[in-house]
Amino acid sequence: LERTNNIPIPATRSIELTNVNGQVDALTEQTTATLSAVTCPEAVDTELTRLAARNNLLSSLNSITVQLVNRRELTPLLQHICREIKSLLDANLVQINMLHGTGNYIETVCSAGDWLNGRHFRYYPGQGANGMAWKTRSVQYIDDYQNFDHKLDGVAELRCCVAIPIFKKDRIIGTIDVAYITGNYSHRKYLVDNHDVLNQLSQLTAVAIENASLHEATMATLAKTNSLNELSKLIHSKSELTDVLNQSSETVLNISDAVMVSILEASATRLGLCCDHTVHRDNRSCIEPCDASNSFDASQSYTDSRYGCSPFDKAHMVNADLTKQSAAQWCFENGTTVIIRHNEACPREPVAVTQWKREHKFGPSLYLPLIHEEDIYGVLAIHRHIDQPNFSDAELNLLQIACTQISITIHQSALLTKIRYDAYHDGLTQLPNRVYFEKTLAEAIDRARFSATRFAVLFMDLDGFKSVNDTLGHGVGDKLLCNVSERLASNIREGDLLVRLGGDEFAVLLANLEDRDTALAVASRLNQSLHNAVDIDGYNITISVSIGLSFYASDGYTAEELLKNADIAMYQAKGNGKNCINCFNEQMALKYQERVRLESELRDAVYTNQIYVEYQPQIDPRSGRVVAVEALARWNHPVAGQIPPDKFIPVAEESGLITQIGERVLHEACRQTKIWHKQGYQRLQVAVNISAQQFTQDDFEATVFDALARSDLKPGYLELEITENIVMENVSRVVAKLEKLRDQGIQIAIDDFGTGYSSLRYLEDLPLDTLKIDRSFVNKLNHNDPQHSLVNTIILMASSFGITTVVEGVETKRQLRCVVDLGCDYIQGYYYSKPVPAASLPSVINRINAIAVRHQAHA
Ligand code: C2E
Ligand code: CA
Ligand code: CA
Repeated sequence: LERTNNIPIPATRSIELTNVNGQVDALTEQTTATLSAVTCPEAVDTELTRLAARNNLLSSLNSITVQLVNRRELTPLLQHICREIKSLLDANLVQINMLHGTGNYIETVCSAGDWLNGRHFRYYPGQGANGMAWKTRSVQYIDDYQNFDHKLDGVAELRCCVAIPIFKKDRIIGTIDVAYITGNYSHRKYLVDNHDVLNQLSQLTAVAIENASLHEATMATLAKTNSLNELSKLIHSKSELTDVLNQSSETVLNISDAVMVSILEASATRLGLCCDHTVHRDNRSCIEPCDASNSFDASQSYTDSRYGCSPFDKAHMVNADLTKQSAAQWCFENGTTVIIRHNEACPREPVAVTQWKREHKFGPSLYLPLIHEEDIYGVLAIHRHIDQPNFSDAELNLLQIACTQISITIHQSALLTKIRYDAYHDGLTQLPNRVYFEKTLAEAIDRARFSATRFAVLFMDLDGFKSVNDTLGHGVGDKLLCNVSERLASNIREGDLLVRLGGDEFAVLLANLEDRDTALAVASRLNQSLHNAVDIDGYNITISVSIGLSFYASDGYTAEELLKNADIAMYQAKGNGKNCINCFNEQMALKYQERVRLESELRDAVYTNQIYVEYQPQIDPRSGRVVAVEALARWNHPVAGQIPPDKFIPVAEESGLITQIGERVLHEACRQTKIWHKQGYQRLQVAVNISAQQFTQDDFEATVFDALARSDLKPGYLELEITENIVMENVSRVVAKLEKLRDQGIQIAIDDFGTGYSSLRYLEDLPLDTLKIDRSFVNKLNHNDPQHSLVNTIILMASSFGITTVVEGVETKRQLRCVVDLGCDYIQGYYYSKPVPAASLPSVINRINAIAVRHQAHA
């Protein structure tokens, strides 16, 4: 049957019917004409018999016409025609044969008669009476079949037959075969005489076939459209992509009337294709997802269940040579449809594939690119059986729509996958993120409720990462984080989950723990993994990590608790001098809570002005007079009263509040000193402590200049006390900043000298005015003590660089004498005065200065 893919217009049908009736009318006219031509009386009898028979033929034609009107399906109609002809011509067998879609042969589609039990025949051009009728395009009357030159084997009983070609326009679309096994020659004459009626019959059959074909084509198109609708419904249901694609190839198999359909997806590298979704009409059960690593073996057939899909498709994806030239690959690379028709060698198809296709009776093939918005996702490969016709334009259109739908599905699924991936991964290191960690941890907890599994949360925070970021830039910082994540990842156990929580924080979910020691062992391995320095952009960077551990269920029942407690343990590890491992315990929690409370109270304190400034005098021991004061922050808590700076300054530093506090102290100190200047303490200097965080602010200098401008204090009266750790960060940057301040006349002091690195190099490298020697030295001052000589050296060196020295923490007369003997320039300590509120300072100064005057008078 030739498929007609145009949607039939009902009008066409009625036109055809009119034609049929027209033909019948023409026949009747012809008969009447014949009758009027009969004049000889002897001939009348035979003529009457002949006319009766002819009348029969005509009424039979009419009956077929009526059937044509009433029936739509081809098969019952052809059946009816067969039966009608058989009874009319008293034949043993009547067959209707139709041209196959390939155009290669005609074959029996229906028959009437007991002879041969309805056996079906296939005739090639020139074979048998039917093959001859096809070849010669004329009615074949075979009187003696057994002596017929073109006879077929296996029909020894056949005596005579008539084969009538069926035409559609000029093309033969089939034959009607009338066969006799009795050899009734009277029929022959009858048939020859009425060959015009036979031709009419054949024409009528042609019309019947045409109409039914149109109808069937419509129904088929409808069914396919419905399948396509089903496909789009399926695609919009939110199932797994694999299921949808498998189902899609199944649907396409039906739409395309194919033997095999594959959806070849782009491989992960996007360079080639891999086949995951193949369906075969006769052998669905054996088709499993394909393992692309198998090599191509042309001897394997696709029906072999060892193969996920046909080696034909494997040829496309595995064998490099074949892949390069395969039609599917070409389609994929160019985004262009490849149509391979019957008996057409495709230059893009390797010989091996063409041969393989022939062996497995594949006929026309189609490769359609799966494209959406210029992205190519793969190829839809469709193979028809060798007996099936070529793909029609209408079918191509339909399959094109299916392709669009499949492409959109893959596109959407890829988008979804990306969205899901992004939601659960860290963009920088590609490690899973906090959200994923919390989800997995919650799942682990759920499972642990019903089993005895134990697990732990390991919390890691890099030590000193911030300074890498600040001094070497974020580019280097990012690379360091990636490097760290790789080193950590290669040191966790299989089954454990490493994530980046954010910033320089990482966490590991340690699953299936035997005991606490296993967790500690992993922790120490992770800690060790970072021991070696790494080269990043030419910088030799050493980084360490502080680790905290919490265990389920002793340290928490919820994901939140476990993570928080591991964090607390880590925090403590940092407090213990960094690069440490610490397990959570209850005291830690209390300490932590205390700290959290303090931080929130400090925040309030900053906003409600509970922070104020006290001043401690610095004395020139030679004159005994007050020359400067150090401004020190104080916190008067509304309930707890005075909270010592040692307690709140570290909290302020960690929480970042120190910048605000420091600025406030700076402004207040400048303002107050200016007041004292006006009150007559004209040369009084003020020293203000600057924390590292405050100093690294980009607008630090501006803040200082602003404080001076507002208070109208001359820069020469302000001294900034910085600590060694500020300098450690990045010497050249610090120097530049200090110079900018110093250019304005502001003095710079190094505070707490002797507690940190105590690098005497700074005295040379930094633009300094003052060195403040920490009070820890004073306690140990004793002529036999090596500290003594160290202080001596410091003071000597400082003075050689023109830097003045201040010794802090002098409490006794003996200590005072001692440091004065060592050559120290200024003294700060309880011996003279504790820090006092601004209001008390004048009287303190007056007292100290009065004593000095008295001493001088004595002297
Ligand atoms: P610091 O800068 O070394 O300040 C000197 C500290 O030594 C003050 O403690 C002062 O009271 C204490 N001190 C002075 N003479 C003696 C003495 O003879 N004996 C003893 N035992 N102690 C003496 P304070 O006021 O408790 O301050 C502690 C630390 O808090 C300061 O040490 C400083 O590092 C920090 N700090 C205070 N105010 C501020 C501020 O406004 N900003 C910043 N960044 N830090 C501040
Ligand atoms: Ca200080
Ligand atoms: Ca100090």
